[in-house]
Amino acid sequence: MRKIAIIPGDGIGIEVTRAALRVLECAKAKFDLSLTFTEFDWGAEKYLREGVSLPAGAVEMFEQEYAAIFTGAFGDPRVPDNRHAADILLGLRFKLDLYINLRPVVLLADRLTPLKNRTRTDLDFVIFRENTEGLYVNAGGVLKRGTPQEVAIQEEINTRHGVERIIVAAFEYARQHGRQRVTLADKSNLLTYGHDLWRRTFREVASRFPEIEANAQYIDAMAMLMITNPEQYQVIVTNNLFGDILTDLGAGLVGGLGLAASGNIHPGKVSLFEPVHGSAPNIAGKDMANPIGAILTAAMMLEYLGHPEAAQAVESAVSACIAANQVTSDIGGTLGTQAAGEAVVARM
Ligand code: ATP
Repeated sequence: MRKIAIIPGDGIGIEVTRAALRVLECAKAKFDLSLTFTEFDWGAEKYLREGVSLPAGAVEMFEQEYAAIFTGAFGDPRVPDNRHAADILLGLRFKLDLYINLRPVVLLADRLTPLKNRTRTDLDFVIFRENTEGLYVNAGGVLKRGTPQEVAIQEEINTRHGVERIIVAAFEYARQHGRQRVTLADKSNLLTYGHDLWRRTFREVASRFPEIEANAQYIDAMAMLMITNPEQYQVIVTNNLFGDILTDLGAGLVGGLGLAASGNIHPGKVSLFEPVHGSAPNIAGKDMANPIGAILTAAMMLEYLGHPEAAQAVESAVSACIAANQVTSDIGGTLGTQAAGEAVVARM
């Protein structure tokens, strides 16, 4: 039996996780999967009650005993700095060295894209975002804070090791999934040290995958081309900051936050899967949140765990529900969160 940790978290995270867990239990029964699910009540409630965010020993426990972690969302207006969310999510991401942030951009029904005259064949790619370096490592400092002379420096960290492993992951994914092209997004024309490292490493890694076309673009060009020519993209690889922005753009192109799935992955190690959206306090507790992002995240986790047939069954059931408009109001349906989840279970 492989152990899966389930951390519903806060707000709509709790509601969408309940729906996703029903789907996981259904997949387990249907495909006879050797998985057990253990729930953890970490989140704002526990933090406010006990002052505990990520309990001591949690990282070691996951490393030693668990195959994967599924989280809902973290964030609560009662914790203004969302300290607990940072401790839990960033803590796990960095301490487990989850260097790949993988986000598919797949159009599940033509009506869901805001782009004119685009169909499912035009929008079908994945983004590999570097998840442990770049501008988000909190390196830098401030001088003369709060004065007119204030100086703020935020440094971007790019290591050869970090850049190479995410690029290799993107090419390996392309090879395994029959994709013919990998596109790098950088700004090497102006960021002549850090992004030159990305470009050189990209060329070098590409030479090890001669059957796959390697294409490098500047981030500003890609921001436009993703709207005007999205059909050219199959696998995109980029740094932490650009990936953060591009993945939201991608989510917007295929139906919005309620549908977007993501994985924080270190191949071969315990990895963490979470829907892209946050805790959405404005709709929390109202049975309104779209559970599909969480359900597709669960499918991604099943694929990672080596159960592609189960993942495919979940994805097909989701597509069928969208086609039949058995969905929540954010994408034009009338169902609540749990009913939309049950519709997926019924189709499976
Ligand atoms: P957090 O601080 O936890 O990131 P947030 O509200 O700032 O929360 P999100 O939760 O990512 O950010 O979402 C922004 C808005 O998008 C929400 O207020 C909500 O209206 C909408 N939204 C997000 N996720 C969903 C969902 N699953 N279903 C429906 N609407 C959603």
